Amino acid sequence: MLDILYKRIVVKVGTSTLTYDNGRLNLRRMEKLACVLSDIKNSGTQVVLVSSGAVAAGAARVNLDHHPMTLIEKQAMAAIGQSELMRMYERFFSGYGHQVGQILLTKSIMDREEPWQNARNTFSTLLKMGVIPIVNENDSISYDGIKFGGNDTLAALVARVSDADLLVNLSDIDGLYDKNPRENEDAVMIKRVKDIDDEIFAMAGGEGTVRGTGGMRAKIEAAKTVTEAGIAMVIANGENPEVLYEIAQGKGIGTFFAPRT
Ligand code: GLU
Repeated sequence: MLDILYKRIVVKVGTSTLTYDNGRLNLRRMEKLACVLSDIKNSGTQVVLVSSGAVAAGAARVNLDHHPMTLIEKQAMAAIGQSELMRMYERFFSGYGHQVGQILLTKSIMDREEPWQNARNTFSTLLKMGVIPIVNENDSISYDGIKFGGNDTLAALVARVSDADLLVNLSDIDGLYDKNPRENEDAVMIKRVKDIDDEIFAMAGGEGTVRGTGGMRAKIEAAKTVTEAGIAMVIANGENPEVLYEIAQGKGIGTFFAPRT
């Protein structure tokens, strides 16, 4: 039996983890992710997946290869890529014996009681039925997700609305470093963060990747929101989705943000 410490885990995977540099889906990685999440689910822990990649996959599909895209182009590309993403997830998860359900959210659900409650009910009903919810921002009708924060911010919201006890943010970096590891060879990774203060934000810097919209700052802001709601968070490298086993078992992979109690 896997010794998993959590009852309900939200896993967020970024565009740079799910796609190749040309924007096309990294199917091997997606399948590995589906396998690991299905296995964790089999062991008795509920899982929710927050997946980026729609804009990049859509753009690759119609050979729109200029950067940066306008917001309107991104919204149109999301419409194409989202269905491609879900088609592949459906195929991979059903291959491992699991049913998925798509939820497209906008951050504005936080502003009003009714949509928040509706989203809550949908998550809890799907999870009770044993379904794996797969979430993205409803990019084609909302700007929020493809501007600052993107799915890093969305994943924090999902962790709260779905009552998770762990949010894992899988990215193309191993964790939070004391300075930018891409520019400083002597950068040291922080293993555990208790208080998210100005010093931690200063370590995060600002930029995201060319194809995704996140960046460390958005991840730290997400960590602040969830830990204040009593949810733990881990930032780790998604290159090998098998790290999720160790993360779920509390084995000190990446950077751990302790929940406020
Ligand atoms: N929702 C966007 C997509 O699916 C991603 C936003 C982000 O990278 O955070 O492409």
